[in-house]
Amino acid sequence: MTDHTHDPHAQSWVESANKHPDFPVQNLPLGVFSPPGGLPRGGVAIGNMVLDIAAIAPLLDGDAAEAAHVAGGPVLNPLLGSGNAALHALRLALFDLLTDPAKETSVRPHLHKAADCTLHLPVEIGDYTDFYAGINHAVNVGSIFRPDNPLLPNYKHVPIGYHGRASSVRASGGEVIRPNGQTKAPDTDAPSFAPTKRLDYELEMAIWVGRGNDLGRPVPISEASEHIAGISILNDWSARDIQAWEYQPLGPFLAKSFHSTVSPWILTLDALAPYRKAQPARSGGDPEPLPYLLDPQDQERGAFGLTMEVHILTPKMREQGQAPHRLSQGPMTAMYWTAAQLLAHHTSNGCNLRPGDLLGTGTLSGTEEDSRGSLLELSGGGKEAVDLGNGETRTFLEDGDEVIITAFAEAPGHVRIGFGECRARIAPAP
Ligand code: MN
Repeated sequence: MTDHTHDPHAQSWVESANKHPDFPVQNLPLGVFSPPGGLPRGGVAIGNMVLDIAAIAPLLDGDAAEAAHVAGGPVLNPLLGSGNAALHALRLALFDLLTDPAKETSVRPHLHKAADCTLHLPVEIGDYTDFYAGINHAVNVGSIFRPDNPLLPNYKHVPIGYHGRASSVRASGGEVIRPNGQTKAPDTDAPSFAPTKRLDYELEMAIWVGRGNDLGRPVPISEASEHIAGISILNDWSARDIQAWEYQPLGPFLAKSFHSTVSPWILTLDALAPYRKAQPARSGGDPEPLPYLLDPQDQERGAFGLTMEVHILTPKMREQGQAPHRLSQGPMTAMYWTAAQLLAHHTSNGCNLRPGDLLGTGTLSGTEEDSRGSLLELSGGGKEAVDLGNGETRTFLEDGDEVIITAFAEAPGHVRIGFGECRARIAPAP
């Protein structure tokens, strides 16, 4: 549902918000920041500024005041866990404060320049599950390993996922240390232990759980959206050579658990309402989802109209002052399952999700060559080097390479809103 907070003509008295590519007043994404010399606390991005949410609680009343108060701690789990009605009340109140010129005097003291602030992981992540919902990625990767049979028989019936590592998820920025690991080249008899030679990124979206569910109480598909607080960008760093050796029969382990990066701002489902789309029709011959995964409203509005981009900045580009090179760009229309289906499926056995749990979508690749969401796909399994346009090429990431993922939403009659950056740089193996 859209309302006055999505009005494309709405302007904020925070000048930098108007025409900001990511954070106009129609967005109001939630995160955790520290102002200079201050402790981490909940904030909302508005243009080039961050508003301290708990600090403006005294200006609010009712549910909005309660929600703002709850955002004062170092993580947003309590706020996300209070449910989407609370997030909605907070959004209405923030929009009012940031658009009404009469409120400027009382609100302005609680704004901080984003460039002066440190952005943190927005929640304490209890559990992280990574799905495999990007069907083009599943086909592309499956084709590398099984040319005749890229998709396994279960793919179109059951959302595939594995339990990821929550402790190694970090907010955008900083370094990712190249992992050491056990690998075995096809032409050798024995494995060896060394730094990964096939370090890769995976372009994904992060789905943040809002209100949780009790153990033994599945969330019906029709109610699944009420348990999703919002989404961010996720980079599921992957060591392909470690993965290829270890993944059978139980799936990814050390090839993935060394580090994952998320963008620091959570775009709420409210903010994303104008950009929701129908879930693309399945190809002829594909099975209908089983009833516990099928909801007419979800099929009609369950997808997100997002565009995502991946850039690489190599040490040479950095030294020579060149702009990052775009590796891929594409629409996020490649999910075989909606976010609601992933959440409903996750709880269908009675598994309890908790506020702040992280669900990764799986790598999102478009159908075009320039919209592939990993180097594994762009390089055809490491066989064809990717041209970076400055004389450099890559099959996989090298030390010093920085990967920058961005995403934005656009729709006719609405302003563009964005996610900010999901960025990190590769550091040498220890
Ligand atoms: Mn992944």
